[in-house]
Amino acid sequence: MSLIHKSAAELGSLIGSGEVSAVEVAQAHLDRITEVDGKLHAFLHVGAESAIEQAQAIDDRIAAGDDLGPLAGVPIAHKDVFTTIDMPTTAGSKILQGWRPPYDATVTRRLRAAGLVILGKTNLDEFAMGSSTENSAYGVTRNPWDLSRVPGGSSGGSSAAVAGYAAPLSTGTDTGGSIRQPASVTGIVGMKPTYGGSSRYGLIAFASSLDTPGPFARNVLDAALLHEAFSGHDPMDSTSIDAPVPGVVEAARQGDVAGLRIGVVKEFAGEGYQPGVLARFQESVELLESLGAKIVEVSCPSFTTALPAYYLIAPSECSSNLARFDAMRYGLRVGDDGTRSAEEVMALTRAAGFGPEVKRRIMLGTYALSSGYYDAYYGQAQKVRTLIARDFEAAFHQVDVLVSPTTPTTAFPIGERADDPIAMYLADLCTIPANLAGNAAISVPCGLADEDGLPVGLQIMAPVLGDDRCYRVGAAVERALEERWGGGLLSKAPTL
Ligand code: GLN
Repeated sequence: MSLIHKSAAELGSLIGSGEVSAVEVAQAHLDRITEVDGKLHAFLHVGAESAIEQAQAIDDRIAAGDDLGPLAGVPIAHKDVFTTIDMPTTAGSKILQGWRPPYDATVTRRLRAAGLVILGKTNLDEFAMGSSTENSAYGVTRNPWDLSRVPGGSSGGSSAAVAGYAAPLSTGTDTGGSIRQPASVTGIVGMKPTYGGSSRYGLIAFASSLDTPGPFARNVLDAALLHEAFSGHDPMDSTSIDAPVPGVVEAARQGDVAGLRIGVVKEFAGEGYQPGVLARFQESVELLESLGAKIVEVSCPSFTTALPAYYLIAPSECSSNLARFDAMRYGLRVGDDGTRSAEEVMALTRAAGFGPEVKRRIMLGTYALSSGYYDAYYGQAQKVRTLIARDFEAAFHQVDVLVSPTTPTTAFPIGERADDPIAMYLADLCTIPANLAGNAAISVPCGLADEDGLPVGLQIMAPVLGDDRCYRVGAAVERALEERWGGGLLSKAPTL
């Protein structure tokens, strides 16, 4: 098996024991990027030289007898919405073109501290607004399973990089589904930790009460190792939870569901769901039952109102967060020829620098927050948010985790939803409740849809700070399906 096909855990142990060098591993992935990224466009920036330098530093420390962690020397692709002091950071937007952040995000800093080798920065929908990466100002990313289809979004560069074997691990952010949905449609694992469980410091803000950094990997244990490496309390983030990180690695190793009560969310089925998605979901539920879980149907009636509430709350927060791009402080500045006022330069810069979806959100949010409409829109949406949290609470009195399909369909063709915002928004129908309530939720591959042979994801939702349960159940499903398939789902993917 070549180096690029190995798991992060395997690579970490091979590097740690000196059987392979971190430089060899980094080089193998850089070669893979050269080979496939012309087709995928997963990366906005590849730092080949710096990756080799980082890897060499790890090799030197290992040679000196330092005891580094389980991921030391393992390559990673980093979503281009986290600040990096040594690489450009664009958030997929023209407005940040040429900007060099003066500091590392906490997540970036912790990746470095764990000895991970950052290969480069991955493509995303502009400011993480979207479900396909088609909203990136720097071109669309393609799905390794079918190059005519989207890799999901907003973290589509990160999902494509891992599914395309350009990196064993990557980072993402999930505000309404941007880790779980891309993981689902590319056949990999993606986890949204409990809100506040991973730091937002240095993450370019979209909707601050929802934004959550999380890991992508090709298997559950790798995702847990990365989760553990970068999460945990950060005094630089005022909403960071000051509590120990749940035992995610142990849970991923344990991977059994005997005696667990698993709730099937009644509302997430029916019209609008692809038959092949529902079929694989149904099989997963039966599989969990055969593994000893007790299956209970659970009703969460307010989950059906999560999508409209999200599309008031997220744009409202975005309209406020994106006000800082004023043409003076960061990146792009248009029309500053000495004849124009600051207001004119700001208007010209924002008109040229933001793409259509970002402008739509700023307008929606500004409207929802304006006096006279605030209570009817923003205030109402906040009440819905409370109802959703209560539905979760009631459900978790009955069951240990909730399951649903991650997203109603498999990867859709590039262009299909580009001019239809509502169709695009529906990709996050099942993922948004966990964001609004702050819960932990994971997507794990559960098979291929019969109609198109494309990956389907199973979503497992757990209570706040119950992240370990997501890994425990996810690992059980993964193990059982691997036995059934004789390998991971990605072994079924067409080779690039
Ligand atoms: N697709 C959703 C949106 O466009 C969620 C994005 C995200 O989680 N960053 O807002």
